[in-house]
Amino acid sequence: MDDMLRCPECGNELKGGYIFSPRRICWSDSPDSIFADFGSEILIEDAWLKVKKTPASRCEECNLVLFKHKENNEEN
Ligand SMILES: [Zn+2]
Repeated sequence: MDDMLRCPECGNELKGGYIFSPRRICWSDSPDSIFADFGSEILIEDAWLKVKKTPASRCEECNLVLFKHKENNEEN
């Protein structure tokens, strides 16, 4: 079984690590600038006391970072 993640752009092996941010990370479908992030989908919440790290993979060739902001099947 090959569970090695590969870069969707160049096919290189992705390097595993973690990303974290002291501020929330939001997603928007639109490139427009906004004054506040109210209503945006929050992928990673603000950190309070501890900064939560999110498992991520990066391609050092393309400077691409992949991360899952939520585990699959988190509905129950
Ligand atoms: Zn790449």
